[in-house]
Amino acid sequence: MDFDLNEEQRMWKKIVHEFVAAELQPKAREVDETGEFNWPAVRKMGPLGLLGLSAPEEFGGAGVDSISAMIAIEEIGWACGSTALAMAAHNGLGTSPIVKYGTDELKKKWLPLVSSGKGKLSALVMTEPQAGSDLQGGITCRAEKSGDEWILNGAKMWCTNASIAEYIIVVARTDRAGGSRSLSMILVPTDTEGLHIAPPEKKMGLHGSPTHAITFENARVPLGNLIGEEGRGLQQTLATLDGGRIFIGAISLGLAEAALEAALTYAKERKAFGKRIADLQALQFKFADSAMEIELARNMLYKAAWLKEQKRQFTKEAAMAKLYASEMAERVCYHAIQIHGGYGYSREYPVERMYRDARLMTIGEGTSEIQRMVIARAMVGS
Ligand SMILES: Cc1cc2nc3c(=O)[nH]c(=O)nc-3n(C[C@H](O)[C@H](O)[C@H](O)COP(=O)(O)OP(=O)(O)OC[C@H]3O[C@@H](n4cnc5c(N)ncnc54)[C@H](O)[C@@H]3O)c2cc1C
Repeated sequence: MDFDLNEEQRMWKKIVHEFVAAELQPKAREVDETGEFNWPAVRKMGPLGLLGLSAPEEFGGAGVDSISAMIAIEEIGWACGSTALAMAAHNGLGTSPIVKYGTDELKKKWLPLVSSGKGKLSALVMTEPQAGSDLQGGITCRAEKSGDEWILNGAKMWCTNASIAEYIIVVARTDRAGGSRSLSMILVPTDTEGLHIAPPEKKMGLHGSPTHAITFENARVPLGNLIGEEGRGLQQTLATLDGGRIFIGAISLGLAEAALEAALTYAKERKAFGKRIADLQALQFKFADSAMEIELARNMLYKAAWLKEQKRQFTKEAAMAKLYASEMAERVCYHAIQIHGGYGYSREYPVERMYRDARLMTIGEGTSEIQRMVIARAMVGS
């Protein structure tokens, strides 16, 4: 057994860390306050490979291994939760289905554009106003064949990156009969007539990551925009979410690491009762628990990413890692605020932003309850 990153992974982590420390972290507060997406930094991510983590080099991506991809998202999460969510949605949801299931034509047309930093990003939407956890039973957005086109009608909700994407992968119902073979993935360019993107949602945190409701009114795209197999959209989406959950866990890990660092720095400076608050045992126990939980989450995430890289089953491990890391991040951010006392509640200090950003991680890409269902199903075989 080897717990060390290899030389290439260590170098990658160092390069990504230096980049995000210079380009993202100093702007994280401004991004949160203004809600402006950090395009200047994201444009620079193209040449570094951060916009094409899983895309093969022949299609303009970096094609890094699954652990390196996870590390990149962790580092971005450490620097800026908003940008990390945009990157997780782009790399994990918007491009990976094309890499895994797309035709060469779709790969050639879209991957180089969205991986380079010259174009916009990508998105995937499955959720609807009345359907989130229950995709199979709940999705009503329809795609119907007409000649050589798909015609889409319906409403979608909570699409991360919609307004900053070249295209959106839409999980739509292609067979009215319902059942597990009635959904398909269809790529819809964002300039398609009949696709309407609503203004960004007003959220608790992650203000620099735009999230939108979307409607389709007779939006037409070529039949060739089908990703993978017709009727296999549910299975393809669930497989995509397995990988995406490692990324959500990685953002959680990055946020927790940043919150712990901030709390430690503060506690070494702040004095109470004649000594540094870092010397108070009550706070030291919070540091110890936080460090232990971060270590646990990191090991779980690395293991899930490693299994993915080995092309082995990792559904249960990804669900466990996401569940644990996201709930851990909330606890660590909670402690970090407590350690800051009143200042922890102030926007002058970064921990309140991290706390708000971390809150989404127990919801997005499957709630904690759904992760528990996924884990239990793998155990009892249902
Ligand atoms: C900021 C943000 C960004 C997002 N980005 C995207 C995106 O890019 N693309 C996309 O498609 N979606 C996105 N989502 C949607 C997200 O994935 C869903 O919100 C999530 O899957 C939960 O679905 P829901 O909100 O419809 O909740 P519901 O499914 O209505 O669930 C409500 C509650 O019921 C619980 N519940 C539901 N079913 C069960 C069950 N069987 N057993 C026990 N408990 C259950 C849930 O755990 C939850 O607590 C985003 C959401 C947010 C807030």
